[in-house]
Amino acid sequence: MPLARLCFAIVLLGLLAGCGRFSDAEPDSTLGHAAGGKLTVGIRFDQPGLSERTVDGRFTGFDVDVARFVAGELGVPPDGITWRETTSATRESDLTSGVVDLIVATYSVTDRRKQQVSFAGPYFDTGQDLLVRRPSNDISGPETLNGRKLCSVAGSTPAQQVRTRFAQAVKLIEYPRYPDCVTALLAGQVDAVTTDAVILAGYVAQNPELLRLVGKPFSTERYGVGLRKGDTEAQTAVNDAIRKMISTGAWRSSLDRNIGPSGYQLPAPPEVTER
Ligand code: GLU
Repeated sequence: MPLARLCFAIVLLGLLAGCGRFSDAEPDSTLGHAAGGKLTVGIRFDQPGLSERTVDGRFTGFDVDVARFVAGELGVPPDGITWRETTSATRESDLTSGVVDLIVATYSVTDRRKQQVSFAGPYFDTGQDLLVRRPSNDISGPETLNGRKLCSVAGSTPAQQVRTRFAQAVKLIEYPRYPDCVTALLAGQVDAVTTDAVILAGYVAQNPELLRLVGKPFSTERYGVGLRKGDTEAQTAVNDAIRKMISTGAWRSSLDRNIGPSGYQLPAPPEVTER
């Protein structure tokens, strides 16, 4: 039947166009790698609920789900993803050196970072907070930190923010990774740990009888997917993927599964505005 054949041809053409969506991208670009079915993603290994490598080498968490969803939308199957650890201090250089294609790692969009990298998103909004030991309640906010020892991670925005905005006399200790700060807090070597509330909530969930989130966020952190600076094609494709993750409900169900158990109050989805 001619009509059926016409419909079939249209569907087939549509599918072919879909498959070849990124095949004209530069071979050595993020979309070029994706067209070849492979992507290297910079991720954290030690942020429970967000992104964690399990003892048997699997990856779980909301950031991991975002990365898998985005990769899938770019045509990359889960086994085409190579996970690579990135840290707060190495995200920009991991992108500019080409070690990773994209970064999904609690990476706040900032104007300063945008001088070196581009972002898609945002895909999640949170705010900076404080983690303290139970049962102490003498730290009630960033302005109560003068003279205290505060731990955060080198290359992250939070510690600097406390010093410039609230408490100049804070003693700042910086480690490469957040679990080092949590260990120092549990051992009584520091008085508080500071970073984004959603990250801290994951550590509280691991030690609820020993740790407490102060729970008064004092900044807005908008998480973006880090891309090489000026890669507007990848940015558009990743923005579309994030919008789809939100509209299909995959975004919400990943948060319910990964972040919900910590008790962290889930926010509404952000509007994807990076361009
Ligand atoms: N979102 C903040 C940042 O991008 C803190 C979390 C982190 O260190 O990854 O610096």
